[in-house]
This record gives sequence, C-alpha cells and structure tokens, in this order.
Amino acid sequence: MKQLLTEKPKVLKMLEVDVPRIKKSTDVLVQMKAAGICGSDVHIYHGTSPVATYPRVMGHEIVGVIAEIGKDVTKVQIGDHVIVDQIVSCGECYPCKIGRPNICCNLKVRGVHIDGGYQEYLVAGEEAMHILPPQLAFTDAVMIEPMSIAFQSCARAGITQEDTLFILGAGALGKSLIKAARLRGARIIVSDVVDERLAEAKDLGVSVVINSKKEDLAAKLKEYTTWGPTVSIDAAGFPGSLPLLTDLTCNAGRIITMAFLDEPSPVQQFKITAKELDIRGSRLQNNKFTEVIAAYTQGKIPIEGAVSHVIPFAEAIHAFNRIDSGDTSIKKIALSFE
Ligand code: MN
Repeated sequence: MKQLLTEKPKVLKMLEVDVPRIKKSTDVLVQMKAAGICGSDVHIYHGTSPVATYPRVMGHEIVGVIAEIGKDVTKVQIGDHVIVDQIVSCGECYPCKIGRPNICCNLKVRGVHIDGGYQEYLVAGEEAMHILPPQLAFTDAVMIEPMSIAFQSCARAGITQEDTLFILGAGALGKSLIKAARLRGARIIVSDVVDERLAEAKDLGVSVVINSKKEDLAAKLKEYTTWGPTVSIDAAGFPGSLPLLTDLTCNAGRIITMAFLDEPSPVQQFKITAKELDIRGSRLQNNKFTEVIAAYTQGKIPIEGAVSHVIPFAEAIHAFNRIDSGDTSIKKIALSFE
C-alpha cells in the first residue's frame, strides 16, 4: 500500500509498504477513503509543531471503511463507513478518570505522536471508530474533525443564547467556530484584518464584523456590546492576542485559548483578578464526534464549500507543495483515496 511518510521536517516520501495487520482482538483495519490536510499538518511538515515527533505518518482528519475486524469487535462491522478518533488516551491519569481523555497526561494524537491516516490502511482499536451515515461523502466527512474542535471550544466556553461571543480571527478555525456557535444561539461578533474573510463570516450569518486594521476594535466592541463580549475565543493566537482579550472581554466573562503558541503572552494579572475572568484552554475534542456527525447529517451545519480542493492521495506531496506556494484559493484540501 501507499504511505506518505514525513521522514523529518520538509522531507515527504511516498513509500510502498505492507498493509498493517490487526494485533489485538478488538482492533479493526480501516481502508482510508479521505483525509483532510489541516494547518497543524502543515506545521508538522514544516517542523514548526511543538508536539510532533518524526518520522511520522501524518493525518488526523481521517475517514474510511472497515475492511477487517478482530474477533472480539462488537462496535463496527465490515463495510461500515467510519471516522477515526484522533485521540488515544491512557484511561489511568487524572483527566482520563474525570472524563477528559482529550487532555490525557499520556495523550497520543494520531498523525502527531503516533502514525495517522496518510496511508491506504490503518489499524486502530474499535473504540476509536465513529460510524458515519453512508450518504455522507467521504471528502465532506473530513470536516467533522475540525468542526469537533470548534464544538469543544464552544462547550468549554459554555456558550448559550444569552452570550455575546467575540471571535478573534476569521480564518479556518474562526469560520468553524461561527458555525458551531450559531447552533447555540449566541450573538456573534467577528474581527479579522482581511476583508475577504470578514465577508465570508457575514455569509455565515454574522451580523457584526470588524476589520481591526481599519477600525478601532475596542471602540467598535463598546459600541456594539456596551459591556464587552461575555465570551471571547482566540482564533488568531499571536503573542498580543490574550492580553488584548483580557482588555476587551466583559467583567465576569470567559476567554478561550486554542493556539499552540509557545511564545509568552504578557498578560496583566490585575485584569484577570479585577474582572474575575475565566481563562480556559480548549484542546482537540472530548466526545464531540456524535454531535458533529448529527449536526452535519441533519443539515444544521452547511457542508458545501468547506472543502475547496479534492486531490488524489497519490499526489499528496504535490498538495503540500501547492500549500507552500501560497495558493490562496486553497481553503481546505481533502486527499481522496478513491
Ligand atoms: Mn485538524
């Protein structure tokens, strides 16, 4: 079978390797059908991921068909369409014990710490399988994982229809957050420095957008919210973003961080104390696949246009080169194995 190996940063190789074999009686063999390319995959490829190890088979937005099952497998059958959970947790540590395996102390993420889905077949435990409705196209289903990240963030923030949510950044993550937060009925305000992204945010139903390069963000937020947003989500992640959000967010508000930024952010502790701000991280997703699959299947989240390019898996190296070339038409690439 074909396998795309990131031997080390910036070195991708398309290899011919043996199909992996089931090891445990609860393992399944998944024949890959589609795999998304995420910004974090590009970081792993470039060598700028703070967590990845090499050599690595990337791919954590991975969907396929069950090709073989171990003798004790009960959750899935051969032929089921599945999305593979990106999280492998130990079940023993404190976060695992309190039901938060996404931040397991021994966390392994497929495609990051262990091999993922940029290969024609993958073996994983049955517990990682989430069944997809057969009518959902594989190349659309790659959007489930990135959307689960947005659902997690909204859950961490505890967003309700009472909230005014400010999303800093209208890139891929910001747009997923808009779609997720709209389901919770929150009022949404989005800022970015690129008008085109703000126009896309408007198309997704956001009534108030602010170009923070051209307009005074703090003044505009004051105008639109009086007391400031009750929830702010950082979908931009630069050293100044967290201090900015401690300024802009309403007293008693919540701030969600999502970036893997390892540069320090100079935050004044006084602002957190004086406003009793809750600053919460949001990582990966905790048990969100079922909800996201249902939202897509019921048409609550628009699927059209999310994937901008479908590229055959055999041309995956070309796909990464194309991203490097700065092709702005690329919003989301789904590698197709069919
Ligand atoms: Mn992703």
